[in-house]
Amino acid sequence: MKIPFTSLSDCYKDIYDEIMTRIQYLINTTNFIGGEEVERFEQEFAIYCNMRHAIACSNGTDALILALHCLGIGQGDTVVTVPNTFIATSEAITSVGANVEFVDIDEKTYTMDPISLREYLVKNIVNKRIKAVIPVHIYGQMADMNAIMDIAEEYNLKVIEDAAQAHGAKINGKGPGEYGDIATFSFYPGKNLGAFGDAGAVVANDTNIAKNIKMLSNHGRIEKYKHEIEGYNSRMDSIQAAILRVKLKHLDKWNDLRIRNAKLYSKFLDDYKVIKPFYRDNSKHVYHLYVCRISNRDYVREELKKKGIVTGIHYPIPLHLQPAYAYLGYKKGDFPVTEKVCKEIISLPMWPELKESQIQEVSIELNSLLS
Ligand SMILES: *Cc1c(COP(=O)(O)O)cnc(C)c1O
Repeated sequence: MKIPFTSLSDCYKDIYDEIMTRIQYLINTTNFIGGEEVERFEQEFAIYCNMRHAIACSNGTDALILALHCLGIGQGDTVVTVPNTFIATSEAITSVGANVEFVDIDEKTYTMDPISLREYLVKNIVNKRIKAVIPVHIYGQMADMNAIMDIAEEYNLKVIEDAAQAHGAKINGKGPGEYGDIATFSFYPGKNLGAFGDAGAVVANDTNIAKNIKMLSNHGRIEKYKHEIEGYNSRMDSIQAAILRVKLKHLDKWNDLRIRNAKLYSKFLDDYKVIKPFYRDNSKHVYHLYVCRISNRDYVREELKKKGIVTGIHYPIPLHLQPAYAYLGYKKGDFPVTEKVCKEIISLPMWPELKESQIQEVSIELNSLLS
């Protein structure tokens, strides 16, 4: 493998000692779940997000489940999201017993199309108990939150922002959580802020929401054996919190390196045959993934692989066409933008320490394979 898809080890050189010291300290204290380390991470992550509250939990999927449960969404309710996302978004909706429905994406940003959302609501608001919408800030770019919030307000919908791929992203100066009722994050190792295992967080400004999420994530309790409600076991390990605290200090620097890398790709890739990521002027795209579009995608991927360059597709099968959702009765052609984009997208190697020479090499090889 000449150029991998990502590297999780490059960033540890500078922070290895600090992380090892924290882990050793925690092993000595035998404080493995929750506790001071987790509380400190929650405070620091809330500040980073410019939010009043952050609640640590087990992973990004649980973060969505906790958010939906906390907002009272369940059996008989409908929650709207996009088909161009990782299945965790829809799994969370069905996990609380609600129905998942999709609306199409915008062809430039690949995020929820506010026009499709409105069309869907006009058609369905009378017959369905539509309670919430989950825009996904996909690939590191935030959805059009001003437009989505206007529509949500008009139809009295709750908004949960799935920010699993968008730590540090902004639109009009605001980040995930500053628009909706709740935003959720994943710290899966490959995300822009990654733990050494599974971890996640929920952010909110409302104190009642924050208290409720905290309680739900820890068996519905505030005191040790007094349970106000039934909840979940969805707590963060203190070792993960310690690692995330060390890494959080470097997140902005790493995001800036991703942005630099995206600019280099943009410079080297063919201007006419490659559709490059669309960068809104008023936004900060943090390039969790560098996704561009080419017409002969499958051929190019195969040839790049032969040359030792690893690429990805995010995601190869839209959710509405997944076998798991056959029961929903969607068919090919229901979401034309998602389906068109899906055949053309390719995710190129991307991580903060990726070198200019590597970006140039990937670009030159890719350009030479285009038809
Ligand atoms: C990674 C991801 C999740 C789920 O996060 P986990 O921590 O793996 O449970 C949810 N939504 C999106 C868009 C993701 O990319």
